[in-house]
Amino acid sequence: MEKNIEELRMYFKAGKTREISWRKKQLNGLLNFMIEKEEEIFKALKNDLGKHPVESFRDEVGPLIKDINAALDNLADWMSGKKIKLPLAAYSTSATLVAEPLGVVLIFSTWNLPFGVSIEPLIGALAAGCTAVVKPSELAPASSALLAAAIPNYVDSEAVKIIEGGIDVSSQLLQYKWDKIFFTGSSQVGRIVMAAAAKHLTPVVLELGGKCPCIIDSLSKSWRTEIILKRLLSGKFGTTSGQACIGVDYILVEEKLASTLVDLLKNSIRKTYGEKPENCVARIINKHHFQRLKALIDEPRVKKLIVYGGSYDEDKLFIEPTILLNPPLDAEIMKEEIFGPLLPLITMKNIEDSIEFINSRPKPLAIYCFTNNNKLMQRVASETSSGALLFNDTVIQYAAEAIPFGGVGESGIGRYHGKYSFDIFSHEKPVLKRDLFPDFWFRYPPWTSKKLELFRAAFLYKYFIIVLVALGFKKSRKIPNIEA
Ligand code: NAD
Repeated sequence: MEKNIEELRMYFKAGKTREISWRKKQLNGLLNFMIEKEEEIFKALKNDLGKHPVESFRDEVGPLIKDINAALDNLADWMSGKKIKLPLAAYSTSATLVAEPLGVVLIFSTWNLPFGVSIEPLIGALAAGCTAVVKPSELAPASSALLAAAIPNYVDSEAVKIIEGGIDVSSQLLQYKWDKIFFTGSSQVGRIVMAAAAKHLTPVVLELGGKCPCIIDSLSKSWRTEIILKRLLSGKFGTTSGQACIGVDYILVEEKLASTLVDLLKNSIRKTYGEKPENCVARIINKHHFQRLKALIDEPRVKKLIVYGGSYDEDKLFIEPTILLNPPLDAEIMKEEIFGPLLPLITMKNIEDSIEFINSRPKPLAIYCFTNNNKLMQRVASETSSGALLFNDTVIQYAAEAIPFGGVGESGIGRYHGKYSFDIFSHEKPVLKRDLFPDFWFRYPPWTSKKLELFRAAFLYKYFIIVLVALGFKKSRKIPNIEA
């Protein structure tokens, strides 16, 4: 490990990564990996998560190809210095913001989107001219092995190292000094990462999770309701069986609508997934997570509130899409991030009470709200805080690279995708240049009331006032006599 990290540091120091041609070559390498290895990626995701190839393309291959292409198209512009407009006080100075690469960075990724959350930050790191270690999750072994075996053949292997392993390897990596740590994962491990980074004053990006609520306001016209149900199911069971950081965690709905919504959801699940949902929804990643999810619904106070589903097959690591009505708020299912195909509905007397319900919990990574009521939209937008807020759909915010992706409060620190990924691996350095002439005499002691007036004019007023003061047309105020 030490040798690998040293090699990355030496390579970075040698300066090659600063060239645009080098960066483009690496991005093209990632692009070729995604295109040439598409089938192997599908296979790995099938092995790790039982994921359908269409879902794999939708969630991983497609968005990554799109984002690499966007980085290639925009790299020259991102790298070009940006002129800064300066105030009068800085007369005869020009300044440019220059993005310089941070250096050697560490990227930790998760098992639920093993390619997406490994390669998406790597696009930013390479575009910015950094060298990187990527540590994929050991819980998606087929995906991790494919990344480790193939990526060195597509990008400069002196600049990118894929280091496989579990907690022991992660802990070792965290002992080293990095120029940035980009972590995707749980808030528990996020705390460990941040504490380790603090020892070296290393900046961190934490892409965490949490419980993403979905407010369902009205179920009026049938065509509207049908679309709401499809988008809701897709944002829950259709996102790797709910094993997604931005997947819907629970629904908030008015009491009077709850039983109608439950009936509609039951029909919609049957219609969408048929008699054998295990054929088209992903499986649970491993036994540990299967047992964790099983324990959430086996809690006696919760089990009796299952209104649909609830069956599971431990050998196949499959849990049926399951709906629960009003589980106790102090039950584990309402306290921890569910990250699986269990969907609690929590009823509100009035739908506007959802705002207080959400605000009394940690800030989520996403809030979804299905409504055509403008007043409710405005209240949710201005009175709640979340990584992103989406009206009338779920999870699509992940797919648009122009939208910054990240959390707030307990759902994370920092944001990425598109230009934001380039920015988080760069230091925007202001480079200033000043002429030696003119040199303003009033900058230097001895201090007089005229110099104070000139400073006042330079900082607070317009150009012509300085001229008036300098020529003596404007009277200088006395310097206040301050006793120590
Ligand atoms: P995790 O925190 O268990 O693991 C993430 C990474 O940290 C893995 O590479 C793992 O090997 C490493 N790790 C685990 N324990 C560690 C320890 N004690 N010390 C150092 N490193 C350690 O997360 P997970 O189970 O892989 O993923 C699920 C979580 O990630 C959920 O909370 C989900 O919401 C979140 N997530 C967030 C995003 C996002 O973009 N915001 C995306 C995917 C997943």
